Amino acid sequence: RLYNQVQDLKGSIRVYCRVRPFLPRQTNYVSTVDHIEEGTITISTQMRNGKEGRKSFNFNKVFSPSATQEEVFADTQPLIRSVLDGYNVCIFAYGQTGSGKTYTMSGPKDLTEQTQGVNYRALSDLFLLAEQRRDTFCYDVSVQMIEIYNEQVRDLLATDGLNKRYPSMLYSIYTLEIRNNSQSTLNVPDASLVRVSSTYDVIDLMNLGHKNRAVGATALNDRSSRSHSCLTVHVQGRDLTSGTTLRGCMHLVDLAGSERVDKSEVTGDRLKEAQHINKSLSALGDVIASLAQKSAHVPYRNSKLTQLLQDSLGGQAKTLMFVHISPEPDAIGETISTLKFAERVA
Ligand code: ADP
Ligand code: MG
Repeated sequence: RLYNQVQDLKGSIRVYCRVRPFLPRQTNYVSTVDHIEEGTITISTQMRNGKEGRKSFNFNKVFSPSATQEEVFADTQPLIRSVLDGYNVCIFAYGQTGSGKTYTMSGPKDLTEQTQGVNYRALSDLFLLAEQRRDTFCYDVSVQMIEIYNEQVRDLLATDGLNKRYPSMLYSIYTLEIRNNSQSTLNVPDASLVRVSSTYDVIDLMNLGHKNRAVGATALNDRSSRSHSCLTVHVQGRDLTSGTTLRGCMHLVDLAGSERVDKSEVTGDRLKEAQHINKSLSALGDVIASLAQKSAHVPYRNSKLTQLLQDSLGGQAKTLMFVHISPEPDAIGETISTLKFAERVA
C-alpha cells in the first residue's frame, strides 16, 4: 500500500492545507474557517457591503486546527521512503507570519516528543528505514542547513572560530554560491556538510542552525520571518549485492512569511526585504505552477530559492507544500491570498 502511495507521488505536486488553532490568549474569537472536509476548506468572507460570503478551495488534504503533529506527518511519510530509493523531495511550509509554518516543520519552542515537527519525524523515519534495510543497503546521511535572506545564501551550520568570537559577524561575512551541477546533489558546495548517524545528531545541528539564525535576528529584528531556511538531507545508498550507488536528497523548507507589506508604510531595509520575499515566493509559485501545468519552460532562474531547488522540483522529484492559514478574522485578506496562491500550484 505504501509502495502504491509512493508511485502516486512520483513526479507530482501535493498541496496540504493546515489551519492553526487559536492561541491560548485568543478567547472569544470567531474563526474565518466555516467548514473543512477531506480536501476542501470553506472560508467565510466579509463582503464589502457587509454581507457574508463563502468561498471554497480544494487541496489534496486539509488539516483542521485539532490535527496533531503525528497526523500531519502520517501523510508525509511515503516521501521519506522515496528519498532512500534515490528520489529528490522538497517539502515546503508556506503562509503568513504566525500561521504555523515553523510549528509544522520544527515544532513549538517548548518542544516535546509529541510536538516534534516534520523535520524531526522525517529524519527519525529515515534512520529507521535505513536500519531496516541494512542487510541489503549501506546508507550515508549528511545534512546542510542554509538560509536565504535578501537573495543571499548563508550557512546556518558554520562553526568556525571567527563566529565564536564575533557571533554577530556571521551574517555579514559569508554569502555562498549556488551551483547547479548535474554530477552532484550538492548545490551549495561551500555550506557545511555534516555527516549524521542518528536523530540526536540532527537535533543538535538543528539547534545550532536555529541559534545561528537567531544571531541575525538581533541585528535585524525578527529575521526568521523574513528569510527562507532550508534543511537539506543528502542520502547516498550503496546496494550491497550489486555495488551500485543511488543518491537522493530532501529539502525541508520553512519559507519567509508570505504577507504583503503596504509599500506606503515601509521604507529602507524593510521594503527591500519585502521585495526580495515577494520576488522569491512568486518565483516559487511560477515554477510549481508551470510544473503542475506540464509546461515546456520552467522558470527556475528567477530566484535563489528556485535555483537552489532546481534538481528537486519537477522531473522525477516529489514536492509537498503545506500551506498554513491563521483563523482570525483580521487575517482574512492574507488567508484568501494564501489559499489563492496554493490553489494555483495545486
Ligand atoms: P510561523 O512560523 O508561520 O510564523 P509559528 O509556527 O511560529 O508561525 O506559529 C505561531 C504561534 O502559533 C507559535 O506560538 C506556535 O507555537 C503556535 N502554533 C502554530 N501552529 C500550531 C498548532 N498547530 N498547534 C498549536 N500551536 C500552534
Ligand atoms: Mg516561523
